[in-house]
Amino acid sequence: MAAALLTGCQSNRVTWAIAVHGGAGTIDPNTPAEQAASYRASLARALEEGRARLARGDGALDTCEAVVRILEDDPNFNAGKGATLTEAGRAELDASIMDGSTLRCGAVGGVTTVKNPISLARLVMERTEHVLLVAEGAERFADATGVERVENAYFVTPRRKEALEKALRERKVGMGAGAASAYGTVGCVALDSNGRLAAATSTGGRTGKMPGRIGDTPLPGAGNYADGVAAVSGTGTGEEFIRHAVARTIPARMELAGETLAQAADHVVFRTLREGDGGVIAVDGKGRIAMAYNSLGMYRGAADSAGRFEVRIWKD
Ligand code: ASP
Repeated sequence: MAAALLTGCQSNRVTWAIAVHGGAGTIDPNTPAEQAASYRASLARALEEGRARLARGDGALDTCEAVVRILEDDPNFNAGKGATLTEAGRAELDASIMDGSTLRCGAVGGVTTVKNPISLARLVMERTEHVLLVAEGAERFADATGVERVENAYFVTPRRKEALEKALRERKVGMGAGAASAYGTVGCVALDSNGRLAAATSTGGRTGKMPGRIGDTPLPGAGNYADGVAAVSGTGTGEEFIRHAVARTIPARMELAGETLAQAADHVVFRTLREGDGGVIAVDGKGRIAMAYNSLGMYRGAADSAGRFEVRIWKD
């Protein structure tokens, strides 16, 4: 009897779990059905890849990198191809990755020719003594690694050009003023079947940002974080995520205040951040997933070993 109960419990236990996001923001609820379907399909494709990898026993870190690469290559999102543009009309990309089981992390900021910044971030983690390389130094490091390179024009899409023109037309006063949070930053958090957590996040930043601006995404603890308690990937107004160390605060609240993952994520998103700032996806060591946002919508998806597989944009 005891054995039967135990077996029953074990079969329900979540052994791996994954969540992805494709950005948060003012996503118009009247988005044409065709466009919403295209976003859902993009998210589902990335999530399916993650699910297949975790189900066959791949590690959380490899899975997060592979999933983010797919989203970087997808022009629907503000990362890699389709990234937002600086006020000078160029793409400057930020990314970071973190292994929760070792606290090793790597990040790049302001890269302009690296097709998949998340893979360069991983190489910073694995091949250097550093955590974050930016701009020219990051490009030089890329030269030495053999990662795939592209012209900056590869990243630029007509949609992001239009968004920049609009932002510049509406610009008020001040350096970087009117830099708009453009939804589409991508991220992935995962728990693998060996109990390891990882997080990866990649972005073009904010539309019309000043050249050289670095957001929260490549800053471990702000836009991306993983430890033995939880893995977190954020999206939204990066400056606010930096001020409040959003990604690190979630596992910290779990450890120090005894909150659940959902409580900690809700606290940070609904009480610390301002309405409209964005959201987070997070997973803990038991495979529980939180996806909280305080904007109109967040492109997101979740899957786990118990059969969950869902993709959503609004509160649907
Ligand atoms: N957090 C990103 C940044 O500020 C942008 C976003 O997620 O929309 O760079």
